Amino acid sequence: MSREGIAAAARSVVKVGSSSLTSAGRLEPSRLDALVDALAARRASGQQVVLVSSGAIAAGIAPLGLRSRPRDLATQQAAASVGQLLLVERYAASFARHGLQVGQVLLTADDLHRRGHYRNASRTLERLLALGVIPIVNENDTVATHEIRFGDNDRLAALVAHLVHADALVLLSDVDGLYTGDPRRPDSKLINDVFGPQDLREVSIGGTGSSVGTGGMTTKIEAAAIATGSGIAVLLAGASYVSSALRGEGGTLFHPVSDHTTSRLFWLQHASTPRGTLVIDDGAVTALTSKGASLLAAGIVDVQGEFESGDAVEIVGVSSQVVARGLVSFDSADLPGMLGRRTNDLPAEFRREVVHRDDLVLL
Ligand code: GLU
Repeated sequence: MSREGIAAAARSVVKVGSSSLTSAGRLEPSRLDALVDALAARRASGQQVVLVSSGAIAAGIAPLGLRSRPRDLATQQAAASVGQLLLVERYAASFARHGLQVGQVLLTADDLHRRGHYRNASRTLERLLALGVIPIVNENDTVATHEIRFGDNDRLAALVAHLVHADALVLLSDVDGLYTGDPRRPDSKLINDVFGPQDLREVSIGGTGSSVGTGGMTTKIEAAAIATGSGIAVLLAGASYVSSALRGEGGTLFHPVSDHTTSRLFWLQHASTPRGTLVIDDGAVTALTSKGASLLAAGIVDVQGEFESGDAVEIVGVSSQVVARGLVSFDSADLPGMLGRRTNDLPAEFRREVVHRDDLVLL
């Protein structure tokens, strides 16, 4: 997809970071209004938009009398609880100036790694868009624990882009694109196009983002990899240039690399958090990696963790090398009695693959 493709995208996901919406621990209404004006203009031309907005924690800092972004999870969650309300209230008022309605969608990683929840989230977003509403998505910070956090909204935005089958993902940041080095250094150059990992060879990036958000260039590149890997073009651009970014101008364009990834396997690879581990013998590793086989009880030597049938599990070899990820067809409690046994020797109700080939991605 070209830059014109970004401009013409029928459905786009636009992600904005905390530092582009807040300063000194408060929302900056003028910056938020400028973003909203650009998104409303896009809607007016018949294009659908899903907004993924950070800023909940950052917007709660000053109202709570805190000096800076809290470090501990409980205070971050308290700040998010206060800030999220202020954030959507402000968005609702700002979009109302254009006669547009907003809907709040708060997601946890759990909502995207349990297949049923994933479908629910997708249905809700589809209906909101069909009703002409602008969905405003954020991580549900108040209930997400360390283990079940997306961690940063760049990744969340890429997963949402996949979830709604967006044509384009626009990542708005306080940096106006991807540079070969620190953007403040005069010898760093803006990279206009990224076609694949080969274009990132000369890039050296710092891991940290702004002092109020959690993203950085690393998370943006990861998000771009997730989205482009499922056929979605990504433009990384400066939040102050939102209108030109939506026209496909400026910034860094990450070109889509494939449009073949099926939703199920994509989800398994990127959105699922494994609930347990199946350790398999060398024969099973070969069967999975070279023969395209399903995983049978005979090849499993150990089961770790507690999970239910339908959960995602990690499949590792005996020397702990990660081989695959898959959806298991048994509860963890049922598996120990089956290990190492041939499928035909098992009681009738257990005679099936432990992880079916169609529910498995090699890693
Ligand atoms: N969900 C967090 C918030 O709204 C931000 C996560 C991020 O910085 O990407 O404050």
